[in-house]
Amino acid sequence: MPVQFAIIGGGPAGVEAAATASRLGAEVTLVERDVVGGAANLWDCVPSKAMIATGGAIGVTLRSAALGLSLGPAVPDLEALRRRVISISERLSASTARQLESQGVRLVRGSARLVGPHAMEVTPAPTPSAGGASAPFVCEFDAALLATGSSPRVPAWAEVDGERVLVTRQAYPPATIPEHLVVIGSGVTGVEFVHMFRSLGSRVTLIVSRQQVLPQKDPEVAAALEADFLESGVTLAKGARAIGIERSGEKVTVVCEDGRTITGSHVLLAVGSVPCSAGLGLESAGVETNEGGYVPVNHHCQSNVPHIYAAGDLSGRLQLASVGAMQGRKVAEHAMGLHTREHRHLDYDKAASAIFTEPEIADVGLAEAEAFALGRKIRVTKVPFAVNAKAMIDGDPRGFVKLISDPATGTVLGGSIVGSRAAELISVIAIAVTARLRVHDLAEALFVHPALAEAVSAAAE
Ligand SMILES: Cc1cc2nc3c(=O)[nH]c(=O)nc-3n(C[C@H](O)[C@H](O)[C@H](O)COP(=O)(O)OP(=O)(O)OC[C@H]3O[C@@H](n4cnc5c(N)ncnc54)[C@H](O)[C@@H]3O)c2cc1C
Repeated sequence: MPVQFAIIGGGPAGVEAAATASRLGAEVTLVERDVVGGAANLWDCVPSKAMIATGGAIGVTLRSAALGLSLGPAVPDLEALRRRVISISERLSASTARQLESQGVRLVRGSARLVGPHAMEVTPAPTPSAGGASAPFVCEFDAALLATGSSPRVPAWAEVDGERVLVTRQAYPPATIPEHLVVIGSGVTGVEFVHMFRSLGSRVTLIVSRQQVLPQKDPEVAAALEADFLESGVTLAKGARAIGIERSGEKVTVVCEDGRTITGSHVLLAVGSVPCSAGLGLESAGVETNEGGYVPVNHHCQSNVPHIYAAGDLSGRLQLASVGAMQGRKVAEHAMGLHTREHRHLDYDKAASAIFTEPEIADVGLAEAEAFALGRKIRVTKVPFAVNAKAMIDGDPRGFVKLISDPATGTVLGGSIVGSRAAELISVIAIAVTARLRVHDLAEALFVHPALAEAVSAAAE
């Protein structure tokens, strides 16, 4: 009998687990209540980057003089932008669903919850072809994956109205380009939204609770972003902790702990997320959550109930689509018995991540500040894009590549890139970190000329 594998949630974690388990011979049922591809497709990674790409194109027109062009100001077409965001998300969901179905995955549109250690109850979504609502049914499983993701956190002092006080999911497809957007939260999501709406023409104020945007990042990287924000006209309200929001007609005012008030036309909350674990029936299967509601997992992504796994944002580890997808793959391999050579543990410390601002920011592996905090000896080499031929040709020589290696062995331990295409370029360093390459290996590789990636090999020399 094939292994019966049930998956609740069709985001990156659920989709990758379904594809892998099905390839390995399981009979897979995946239940998704919204769209296949998950929040990543519908609300998070995809629509945000689609809007940022449009803003980036406007940015190119602003630098047109450096490219030998004389252009007038580009104006976003709101309706075309809405259609573009929706269409990309729909096409991605449709192609993912087709691919899973062609692999034999049973896709059910509906909501699921556990009703015991080996069973889930599925309430199918109403469909016109089935004449409305279908009756709930129970699906038994040998192994299950919980991959229900997370949703934006709304602090107790904030009332979201979806009109002028928004969470990220309400910002697209864009109903309007705010005249003056006040963003609360200067982590990755907050700074991406600052960049997105600034490049689309909004006036933007960013409320930064500490003295540095991106408080978890390398100070040099954060400083490069702050300088760019200031140059593009973003106002930074530093050391300001928001404690309330007041709406008055078309104006919204954020009240800060130190008495400061900041008024704009819209407020966007980007203050973290909460796991989607409520109503999942975890207690019926004995699955434990931590204080925050996340499902703690071991290195195989098993919950305290060994045949019930959790992956993606719900597992409370690195909240990235790429990490969720890799967890999903590892879950499927483990559930299908690939415990030995074919199945390696996921090393969260080697996950590359990027921030889609302008310039882009990306990093992987050990960071300089982290190494100093650990008292670890490192070698740091840095090459600015200002000396890179392709960066000059493209008219955007901002930023740098920083490579971190072990001074004794030359092994590449990590790196940060600030600059155009940093999210693509970091993959070169990510491979070096994962494969334990030495700086010498990177320096000896024959890169294309002219290419931005030459800055990586130059940093390795
Ligand atoms: C604004 C924003 C931008 C982001 N950009 C990036 C980025 O550029 N790159 C990146 O790597 N990460 C990015 N992330 C993070 C990324 O979106 C998440 O880490 C990723 O979506 C998590 O994947 P997941 O599989 O855990 O779940 P999700 O993508 O959250 O999907 C979970 C799915 O489960 C479904 N579900 C929930 N409960 C049930 C139920 N009971 N029954 C059936 N279905 C259910 C939901 O409908 C949802 O579709 C971003 C996050 C935000 C907020």
